[in-house]
Amino acid sequence: MDVSFLINNLNDAQRLAVTAPSKAMLILAGAGSGKTRVLVHRIAWKIQVEGVSPHSILAVTFTNKAALEMRDRVEKLLKFPTQAMWIGTFHGLAHRILRRHASEAQLPTTFQVMDSDDQLRVIKRLLKSMRIDDKKWPPKQIQWFVNGQKDEGLRAKHLSHNGDFFLEQMIKLYHAYETICNQSGLVDFAELLLRAHELLRDTPELLAFYRQRFREVHVDEFQDTNKVQYAWLRLLTEGKDNLFIVGDDDQSIYGWRGAQIANIFNFQQDYPNYELIRLEQNYRSTAYILQAANQLITHNNNRMGKQLWTDSDNGELISLYSAFNEQDEAYFVVDQIQQWLEAGNLKKEVAILYRSNAQSRQFEERLMIEAIPYRVYGGLRFFERAEIKNALAYLRLLSNRNDDPSFERIINTPTRGIGQRTLDSLRDFAKYEQISLWQATERRINDNFFSARAGNALKKFQKIMQDLETESHSLVLYEKVKLVGEKSGLIDFYKKEKEDRGEARIENLEELINAARAFDYPCEDDETLNDLDMFLAHATLEAGEMQGADADDCVQLMTLHSAKGLEFKHVFMVGLEEGLFPSGRSIEDVARLEEERRLCYVGITRAMQKLCISYAESRRLYGKESYPSPSRFLREIPKDCVQEIRVRAKVTKTFKTIKVTESLGGHRVGDKISHAKFGLGTILQLEGEGTQEKVQINFRESGLKWLMLAYAKFERLS
Ligand code: ATP
Ligand code: MG
Repeated sequence: MDVSFLINNLNDAQRLAVTAPSKAMLILAGAGSGKTRVLVHRIAWKIQVEGVSPHSILAVTFTNKAALEMRDRVEKLLKFPTQAMWIGTFHGLAHRILRRHASEAQLPTTFQVMDSDDQLRVIKRLLKSMRIDDKKWPPKQIQWFVNGQKDEGLRAKHLSHNGDFFLEQMIKLYHAYETICNQSGLVDFAELLLRAHELLRDTPELLAFYRQRFREVHVDEFQDTNKVQYAWLRLLTEGKDNLFIVGDDDQSIYGWRGAQIANIFNFQQDYPNYELIRLEQNYRSTAYILQAANQLITHNNNRMGKQLWTDSDNGELISLYSAFNEQDEAYFVVDQIQQWLEAGNLKKEVAILYRSNAQSRQFEERLMIEAIPYRVYGGLRFFERAEIKNALAYLRLLSNRNDDPSFERIINTPTRGIGQRTLDSLRDFAKYEQISLWQATERRINDNFFSARAGNALKKFQKIMQDLETESHSLVLYEKVKLVGEKSGLIDFYKKEKEDRGEARIENLEELINAARAFDYPCEDDETLNDLDMFLAHATLEAGEMQGADADDCVQLMTLHSAKGLEFKHVFMVGLEEGLFPSGRSIEDVARLEEERRLCYVGITRAMQKLCISYAESRRLYGKESYPSPSRFLREIPKDCVQEIRVRAKVTKTFKTIKVTESLGGHRVGDKISHAKFGLGTILQLEGEGTQEKVQINFRESGLKWLMLAYAKFERLS
């Protein structure tokens, strides 16, 4: 058979990587050099040329969109369905393994996956039941702690506090949290990974089975794996060395979530016979765009160092727009998009990338006004909307009566006269008896514990769930979802809500039915899995994948983080301001600042033909007005790649250079100072000349401020 189509459009290094025999391989290369392409072609090569069964292929990546795209690309190459291959995200695949082997993993077969909001709610409830002050012990901090430990592979029982009071309390809470989750059959995101790892580690037969099954293991974006993910990969491939990884240390952007570039070094040690291939040609971007990215990233010290070149034309200069405020920025961006569309281009070729989800609203509003279809990844995601979560909570409780957070969510939604006192009493009883809220309700009803009113209200709820159970039994998935909308009273409830809002909610519920109808999980060998549970997990794991089908032509809005691995002809990178990008918290910490810079590198390298960067001189975000200065990253991009845009008139003028110095007027970066009005702070930046000398100070109490040196009233402490 002619298989040249698998290698024809590859350069020599890529071809080498695609056709190399199975062994440990590391493809280390910069953005847009064809890493993902190589991975996809290699999968196809293994199947088509070496006769590997699709069943034996495992391929992991980070976002659902990237996984879908990978599947799609393999399918296009091979021209047959990829159902049998395990292609997905770490979380998705871990979930699949846990579902198949729930009892070996000590989980109820109906376990439910919690998103991070649900997780936070469980923690809040936990604090309340333990009578711990959530001001002193912020739930978010506990969540952070628990997830951080899990990412490191550590359970509460592995931790010791060595007399440290803070740690002691955290460990106690971690323990209590584990107990609750186990009781209610709930699994958070970090738990999916940890438990899937423990399952394989502690069940030799299973491990042997999966080792045998997965002949070829591939990982995209390897630089962002965390400890548990790596350990899981290691378990699967140890001794066989059949691990093919691609990555780019300059695109490591999840350090804050426990990702470790160190895994690249671990790999080199653990698989000493590995082969390294570097790809150096970028095929994605124009020369100006690539030059900007290359130059920016040289400002990081901690790099493995790579060459990246292109033989593309210079292309258009990168546009830079300084907006008055965030509305002006959105106005400008949407105006530019219109011009792009008028020139006959497609909407889906355009992406607006931002640092923080909260920035999307401005662009959404403008796009809506101009009637340009768009799709937001992340942000207020479809599955996170209240009405959807309510409907899902009914479904989850239907599947698993011990799912306490779902119980809490819907016991009185829509309102059915179950008061706080009744609920508190149920909670206390459940806690005392170590049973779920549902079980507590049943027992209390049987004992006639409550007053007639409260008792009846509870019975009503119980009846709804029982009816749902009986009536949904023989229904297919989407009919179950439909039934829940009607039986739960949610639809009637929203009908009574103020016109627009209620209507929109009902539309969303209808969309949920459609989603259930279209739901088709790629596991032909997993008939035992229950479609409702798979759908519910999909809703939690793949939130945000719902607005419009993927194939629809609409403008793409997403955070820089979720843009990793993707490419668009026309990219807008917005909000390049100190305090936003780089983010406020990263400014004082070199390691975090470097991570922000890598994120900027990721952003720039998403662009194929046109890149447009903008910042606002004043911005209202999270309800606060600020006057940020332009991001330092702008100064790190070569001037001759950039043109500044004025509205209506394009002026080819380079971005004004501000003289940045380490010291000014006797002050130095890092000096601790005390200001008459703002109190204590640290000098972060100094810039400007003459009367324009400015200093940026991070004040302990009032945050970041720029002050004119000539007028600022502060004195140096150190
Ligand atoms: P990232 O680091 O952003 O994930 P990557 O290294 O995975 O990037 P790909 O997405 O695989 O890069 O490739 C970037 C673009 O270059 C794609 O459009 C791809 O089709 C194209 N490309 C890669 N290699 C070649 C080649 N040899 N000839 C032509 N086009 C190529
Ligand atoms: Mg890639």
